[in-house]
Amino acid sequence: MSADLPGLGPSEWVKFGPRTDVRRESVARGLDIPYVRKYSVFTSRRTFMPTRTSRSRFPALTTFLICISWCLTGIWLFPQNAAIHLQPLSREIIAQRLQRLHLQNAERETELKSMFEEAGCEADRIQEQIVRRKDPPNIICTLPGATDSLIIVGAHFDHAEEGSGAVDDWSGASLLPSLYETLKDTPPEHTILFVGFTDEEKGLVGSDFYVKHFPKDQLSNMKAMVNLECLGLAPTEVWAHFANPELLADLVRVTRALHVELRAVNVEQVGNDDTQAFRDKKIPVITIHSISQETWPILHSKKDNLNAIHLDDLYESYKVVATYLSYIDHVSH
Ligand SMILES: [Zn+2]
Repeated sequence: MSADLPGLGPSEWVKFGPRTDVRRESVARGLDIPYVRKYSVFTSRRTFMPTRTSRSRFPALTTFLICISWCLTGIWLFPQNAAIHLQPLSREIIAQRLQRLHLQNAERETELKSMFEEAGCEADRIQEQIVRRKDPPNIICTLPGATDSLIIVGAHFDHAEEGSGAVDDWSGASLLPSLYETLKDTPPEHTILFVGFTDEEKGLVGSDFYVKHFPKDQLSNMKAMVNLECLGLAPTEVWAHFANPELLADLVRVTRALHVELRAVNVEQVGNDDTQAFRDKKIPVITIHSISQETWPILHSKKDNLNAIHLDDLYESYKVVATYLSYIDHVSH
């Protein structure tokens, strides 16, 4: 395919059909987004209440200025010679890894470790970080980069008691080895840490421990934390409200270039996720997910099983995230 945007060159594997529904959320940069529906979620009822974004908050002049600054920034960020070339894994591999699902959290961690090894993350690049003695550890696979700057890619492998947690969050965790495998052949600028977090459902325990025990003098090296939560229920979505504006803008650019629709669905009234500890340290974060008004009741219920996942959507999210990681690594940060 050819990309819409100057600089984001043709990626050899971007072959999924163009969608006409690419929205104009690219002017958002973390602000309220014209033309994009947002949802408020009320925890007590487990229902979404859709609300329309109010355009009236944007006087015409402000919107115009945002657009102009966006364009100027965009040109600056897209040197003509920048391009992303990735070789995707097959849809079958993504499906097989998703299906290697276990009910016990300890087995999930072991499976994730096996998949990292199969993906080429050798033993000396895998670290298991003990968090609570009786619980599985955090598992970290490191892709060394040319610099000390860091990108964290996180997903939690544990699940709530109800259901099998195929969606929440084996969908995200099972992608980590595949993302490593996709990116490993082109040495990145940043060192990329793929982290399977433990005990998210017990109160963000694994991610909190990870950040609190990270060497303090290296926290400032973390340029981005990309969190994968509950993928495959629908096409790719982003938690725009809590996303770092630059990371959000980059995701918009990448999805536009891929002709993939990106919806902003904000879920802060539901609860929290593994970005919390990173946000507390002012590290730029972004959560990519697929939760919507219709699918929210699936989480933490018996319906959270493999049947809830649309492989087409999961595969698309995999390709979006792989491209996005490559993009933020090579081009914009
Ligand atoms: Zn989750």
